[in-house]
Amino acid sequence: MTLVAIDLGTTNSLIAVFTEKGSELIPNAMGEFLTPSAVGLNNANEIVVGVEAKNRLVTHPEKTHARFKRFMGTNKDFKLGRKTYRAEELSAMVLRSLKSDAERHLGTKVQRAIISVPAYFNDVQRKATYAAGEMAGLKVERLINEPTAAALAYGLNSKDDENTFIVIDLGGGTFDVSILEIFEGIMEVRSSAGDAFLGGEDFTDAIVKDFGEQIGSDFEALSPSARANLRDLADRAKKGLSEKDAVKIKFNTKSKTYELDLSRDRFEEISKDLIKKLRLPIQRAISDAGLRAENIDRVVMVGGATRMDIVRQHITRLLKLFPEHRLDPDHVIALGAAVQAGLVDRHEALEDVVMTDVCPFTLGTEVAIELPNGQHEGGHFQPVIERNTVIPVSRVVTNGTIRKGQREVTLQIFQGESAWVRDNVPLGTLNVKLSPKKDEFEYFDIRFTYDVSGILEVLVTVHSSQKTERLILEGNPGALSKAEIDKRFKELEKLKVHPKDKAENSAVMSRLERAYENQLGDIRQVIQRRIAEFSAVLETQKETDIALMRDELMKWVESIENMDIF
Ligand code: AMP
Repeated sequence: MTLVAIDLGTTNSLIAVFTEKGSELIPNAMGEFLTPSAVGLNNANEIVVGVEAKNRLVTHPEKTHARFKRFMGTNKDFKLGRKTYRAEELSAMVLRSLKSDAERHLGTKVQRAIISVPAYFNDVQRKATYAAGEMAGLKVERLINEPTAAALAYGLNSKDDENTFIVIDLGGGTFDVSILEIFEGIMEVRSSAGDAFLGGEDFTDAIVKDFGEQIGSDFEALSPSARANLRDLADRAKKGLSEKDAVKIKFNTKSKTYELDLSRDRFEEISKDLIKKLRLPIQRAISDAGLRAENIDRVVMVGGATRMDIVRQHITRLLKLFPEHRLDPDHVIALGAAVQAGLVDRHEALEDVVMTDVCPFTLGTEVAIELPNGQHEGGHFQPVIERNTVIPVSRVVTNGTIRKGQREVTLQIFQGESAWVRDNVPLGTLNVKLSPKKDEFEYFDIRFTYDVSGILEVLVTVHSSQKTERLILEGNPGALSKAEIDKRFKELEKLKVHPKDKAENSAVMSRLERAYENQLGDIRQVIQRRIAEFSAVLETQKETDIALMRDELMKWVESIENMDIF
């Protein structure tokens, strides 16, 4: 039975198969490889999918939906006529349409699929993707991470030696960066970072703004349809610059014709800020993976907007490597997912692991923050274990009550990267009873310990009573018995010591303090600064950073001690 590969994208979706000739894309009924991920109702109130729905986005916005991928697994309702749908149901309609295109093209029933998902998709979003497949009548054999698929498309799995590569995916509205490593047939996503509000459309906006300046005072008076037309022209100008050094555009309104132009230099000038914004997620992904730019062996480009010369040039300059762009950036993920389908069918699937030994998301709690007027505002996110931290890991933070005499706190635990808990995924709640003295604040330690099996233990210890409350949150409930969980966390007990209380660290600290006592004059200030630096790194509870500084300080303090010996 045929196994198809599907790139279920935010803007467009594609379906492919693996044949004896390699990966092959399957065209839809219109003969196109790209099916817009849009769903709507037509005038006869029938569901339409793809380009027909996309074309109705402007004319019938209330009866059409697009860009719903980002809401997979959420409770958001999308109204279509009298019915409402969840994002996974809309995705299922796109999948069903791709499935029937494939059945028509291949002349056989299609019931098995591999679907690509962003590397940063959490468990809820992944389950929603499985559910969408099922609703479309597809058995989802596995999900493949988009950057892994991109790497497979470029055959980066065929190298015998170890390889590190970066996948840069700039789509219409989002920017995703992933660092991957392949070792002995296992492809691992070491880190991922991105910007959910940066994409090719922002570059189009910049051109519209520039055209607006060329049009002058008439610009403000343009009708909505003239504006839509201008935006369309701006998008074409942007694409034109991928081939030419300058483009000229005729813009006709009812009353006037404007001649607008855009050169590569001008485009570079007006996109300066956007180009700058590309840098941060790239740097973050590299440093989260514990690497430097020079450790990257290859660069793979995905997404329509990586066709822009200025984007490629910037990446080349930043990474000092030429990006690979032999394949159409819109096709890369589907082609790579099809390679995986080929491997699965030959029973030699490439292992695709998302950051196996790191926590892929930030775990934390809700906190209230004091505003300048003295009032507290809840709903803020306080990270305890940050994403891409190597696991198992145990971290502690200390919080206090916001009112004196407060008798209870309700600790809410979340996973996600937003500063606001409402945008993160709720994991659980823990009620902690307090018995403070009247008119006193109460303090408590919140310790998160995260195990490789995806189990999070939350311990809250109240300072005054030293009583501890415990909550266990399982990523995959029921996979382990209570006794097994308790045994695992018993083994992790040694992690639950704050680094400043660990013998090897306190030894260095006391040596520094002794050196301070023994010295006089300017050197004391230097020692004091080093003590403060070490304290700060101990507070981060980051083992590798601490170990590095500890070793360096040992040597340093020894040289200070030796100053006294003549
Ligand atoms: P995607 O979501 O991957 O389909 O990316 C679509 C984005 O890529 C849109 O903003 C397009 O305008 C942009 N894009 C597509 N083709 C080109 C091109 N030749 N040059 C520049 N941008 C392009």
